[in-house]
Amino acid sequence: MPCEVKERERTGIINPIFTCQPCGAQYASIGIRDCIGIVHGGQGCVMFVRLLISQHLKESFEIASSSVHEEGAVFGALKRVEEAVDVLLMRYPRVKVIPIISTCSTEVIGDDIDGLVIKLNAGLLKEKYAGREVHLIPIHTPSFVGSMITGYNLALKDFVSYFAKKSEPNGKINLITGWVNPGDVTALKHLLSEMRVDATVLFEIENFDSPLMPEGNSVSHGDTSIEDLRGTADALGTIALNRYEGGKAAQFLESEFGVPAVIGPTPIGIRNTDTFLQNVRKMTGKPIPESLVRERGIALDALTDVTHMFLADKRVAIYGNPDLVIGLAQFCLDLEMRPVLLLLGDDNSGYKDDPRIKELQENIDFDMEVVTNADLWELEDRIKNKGLKLDLILGHSKGRFISIDYDIPMVRVGFPTYDRAGLYRYPVVGYSGATWLAEAMANALFADMEHKHVREWSLNVW
Ligand code: SF4
Repeated sequence: MPCEVKERERTGIINPIFTCQPCGAQYASIGIRDCIGIVHGGQGCVMFVRLLISQHLKESFEIASSSVHEEGAVFGALKRVEEAVDVLLMRYPRVKVIPIISTCSTEVIGDDIDGLVIKLNAGLLKEKYAGREVHLIPIHTPSFVGSMITGYNLALKDFVSYFAKKSEPNGKINLITGWVNPGDVTALKHLLSEMRVDATVLFEIENFDSPLMPEGNSVSHGDTSIEDLRGTADALGTIALNRYEGGKAAQFLESEFGVPAVIGPTPIGIRNTDTFLQNVRKMTGKPIPESLVRERGIALDALTDVTHMFLADKRVAIYGNPDLVIGLAQFCLDLEMRPVLLLLGDDNSGYKDDPRIKELQENIDFDMEVVTNADLWELEDRIKNKGLKLDLILGHSKGRFISIDYDIPMVRVGFPTYDRAGLYRYPVVGYSGATWLAEAMANALFADMEHKHVREWSLNVW
């Protein structure tokens, strides 16, 4: 069979592709306006995650820690969460939403954050903050199961299920973007605006490409409001672009409030962007305007310039968030490339039943491996010891040393990407994303040819 889906066989992880569940909950929470999360665990559960997100977005943002130490780890540390909630509310008068995000240690010791929320709602909030709108939302993200992907998926569902409330139909669609960059949000909003479609974007992180203003500002905030979240139950429907990063929230809105859900495809490449726009058209009844047909045409023209001449038959390895990896693999196939190795970095047993992977299995005529629960050693070992030949690597910055050590060109894509300037600003979704991706891959190959002193005839006449 040309396409095999297998699980990593080794025990232990060497150079992980993902980090842990609380990271996903933190990434989701920064997209909400007037929200600061409290991560209930050791300080590192915030410090390193916040550093990672800040390095990626090149912005500063606020997130708190209950900073559990030895005593709390043995005897319980709920008191520290009580204090953290109080301090946050005193210090930040604008804060209305406080997710309390658990971690491995506080789940193991069994700290009852749900019970604590009931206690704080009946006590502290009534006594000290009467009349102030405050929402405490427990989010359980033990890191010994799942990954940052499941943490993101779970947090989105928890936020939506906490706030969504049926009222009058609002004529909007819910657009659950998944784990994307500010540039992706801009691109998606542009597509919807061309179609004259009003959407609630979950979660709205466009402002994490923040301006430096004359009056000074140093902290970025998400822009999905409490009202937006409440209104998700009144929408025409939900489109979740990523199956594993927002699919649960879309399913919840459908089962609980009858809001129809369309999950996927991740609009990477022309084909998937076409499907996304068709889904929007069916859900809203709004036509796809000529302006988008023209944008599509410009993207197709750009792709035609690089596909057959330069990208065809190039062997690619892709790792990172599963929807991104699968979307990139689909796009690579459309560009006549050969995605020979896909690495999905957690133990989700559902990957092998993903219809997109089944489609890949049915339609390729070369050998492809899909490794679940993978780490970066799965890539390095194949290159170093098993003769895997690659022309290109697609993935986030954590794999850059493989690219450097084995002299294989790499296009940074996904999270985190911190060793190239401004990547968070460029979309990978939509027609503009397809153009950027294809040209970035072609330029990486051109630069590699120069680096390796390859004087290929085609470059001279192009
Ligand atoms: S693995 Fe556990 S201790 Fe480490 S950052 Fe994640 S939640 Fe915190």
